[in-house]
Amino acid sequence: MTDLQGKTGLIVGVANKRSIAWAIAQAAAEAGARLAITYQGERLEENVRELAATLVNPLILPCDVTDDAQIAHLYEAIDGEFGGLDFLVHGAAFAPREELSGPFVQTSREGFRLSLDISAYSLVALARGALPLMERRGGGSILTLTYLGSQRVFDNYNVMGVAKAALEACVRYLAADLGPKGIRVNAISAGPIKTLAASGISGFSAILQHYRDRAPLHRTVETAEVADAAMFLLGPAGRAVTAEILMVDGGYHATGM
Ligand code: NAD
Repeated sequence: MTDLQGKTGLIVGVANKRSIAWAIAQAAAEAGARLAITYQGERLEENVRELAATLVNPLILPCDVTDDAQIAHLYEAIDGEFGGLDFLVHGAAFAPREELSGPFVQTSREGFRLSLDISAYSLVALARGALPLMERRGGGSILTLTYLGSQRVFDNYNVMGVAKAALEACVRYLAADLGPKGIRVNAISAGPIKTLAASGISGFSAILQHYRDRAPLHRTVETAEVADAAMFLLGPAGRAVTAEILMVDGGYHATGM
């Protein structure tokens, strides 16, 4: 089992118990890490506080990733409490519902801007904030969550596919920038899982069924399985791995016909 005793981590992207980021938070806490967990706005605060209450001494803070002031306050609070940071899990993504159905060619300028800001740029902003805290620890590990829709066309995934392509490029550029400081940057490309974010994608059940029919493992994946892979990338076993997009999708990505 991964040992994260004495480590501190920031988890962004918990909405409810089905969130992939929550499964990663649980696994990291079980491995001994002390965590800061954020919620996006008052609507989700109670949910996140209830979940976090099951962890040992978590720090719970607001963070809307579109707001630079909130990001600055977040890191001030973490610095004050933890005095540094060992890892960051970025699981924030959003596209307006109307962009996740119908033809991609109808994507609006504002829908495109917002989707890329929240789902891709936020990794850069959060990595920049984490940098001085990780430098103080002599290095760190940053992990984000992506989907194969970055490379291939899935019905209705639309602008989120473009955002994930940008996110994966951000992983590579950040890994190059931060590598000399001992900070690794990776992504897990998860197979489809029924979560709050996924429920916005029109026809999502058909994607799930397609994976059951076609993936080499003939099933979909669970959040706990994504969390297990996350422990590898966050922990000491992944110490030579950076700029990587690790597929955790039952092998679906390898299929042709
Ligand atoms: P989720 O809805 O539980 O998580 C998405 C999170 O993004 C929520 O916690 C939400 O609060 C947060 N978010 C949205 N806008 C935000 C903002 N402005 N500021 C801060 N946070 C914001 O769903 P999930 O499926 O667990 O998604 C987590 C990540 O995993 C996302 O990047 C998603 O694209 C990715 N992913 C999901 C699947 C899937 O099938 N569920 C597959 C591959 C990758």
